[in-house]
Amino acid sequence: MTKILSGKEVTENLNAEIKKDADLLREGEIEPCLAIVRIGENPDDISYENGAVRRAETVGVNVQTIPMPENAKQPELVSLIKKINADESIHGVLLLRPLPEGMDENLVRNVLVPEKDVDGITDFSAAGVFTGEAIGFPPCTARACMRILGHYKVDLSGKRTVIIGRSQVVGKPVAMMLLEQNATVTVCHTYTKDLEAEIGRADIVIAAAGKAGAVKGEWLTEGQTVIDVGINVDDEGKLHGDVDHSTADNKVAAITPVPGGVGTVTTSILMRHVVDAAMRG
Ligand code: NAD
Repeated sequence: MTKILSGKEVTENLNAEIKKDADLLREGEIEPCLAIVRIGENPDDISYENGAVRRAETVGVNVQTIPMPENAKQPELVSLIKKINADESIHGVLLLRPLPEGMDENLVRNVLVPEKDVDGITDFSAAGVFTGEAIGFPPCTARACMRILGHYKVDLSGKRTVIIGRSQVVGKPVAMMLLEQNATVTVCHTYTKDLEAEIGRADIVIAAAGKAGAVKGEWLTEGQTVIDVGINVDDEGKLHGDVDHSTADNKVAAITPVPGGVGTVTTSILMRHVVDAAMRG
């Protein structure tokens, strides 16, 4: 029997903890507040923003949504971030990316002060992930994967873990965090020669390729734990992970569903970080 690693189950505990801390902050007259900066009207961004707003309400975090026009220019965005840096009522910032073409993302993301970098986008935060020191915040999705593994007590020590994807947001930080937990880590990407063989050797598979069906059920084996990070929307608006669940579910030992898996935990981790940032402040 495959165990479904429900993200909803993980967030029940997490949301209660966050709400308790947010209430404590309020008692001290601090209103934990997240600013969401969105450029343009990308439906995926709007959907993520709406999800974050709903979760924030549940856990008692205030949100300021700051939409900018599609044609906003880099200096305007930089001056907005500088304004937010100086605004004591805002404790964390979610900058929806990718930024429009023509903007220098490396420059813009590092304008944000690390104290408010609740989604781990600055180089300072990345340094914390690499050194394993608790400076800054790690990217929320990477931490969500680790939280799910921790919640379901998946043993990581010495386990062969294969990550599919090497992005700054998921693949690389998850690799570092798994190493911290003594896993043996392989990171696969589009140049990997034999993905099927790499996946076949794994105890734990983390799929973050951004392609529906990138991981076929027949490549997976019975004892494996699978974390499906992918969020891929088809023409009918239906969500699919990176793993082919029609063949993987009922085969592996445990798997996260899509939706209702990593995504929902990621949103709660974001709120956890905002409240932590307010507490640190
Ligand atoms: P990305 O496009 O930046 O990176 C994808 C990575 O996967 C790249 O390193 C690429 O080399 C690798 N890759 C792509 N196709 C591959 C293949 N067929 N075989 C092997 N490697 C392959 O994407 P990302 O930002 O890391 O996001 C990955 C997925 O996770 C997307 O579906 C995204 O929507 C989703 N995501 C989910 C959450 C969440 O909260 N659940 C958060 C962020 C991203």
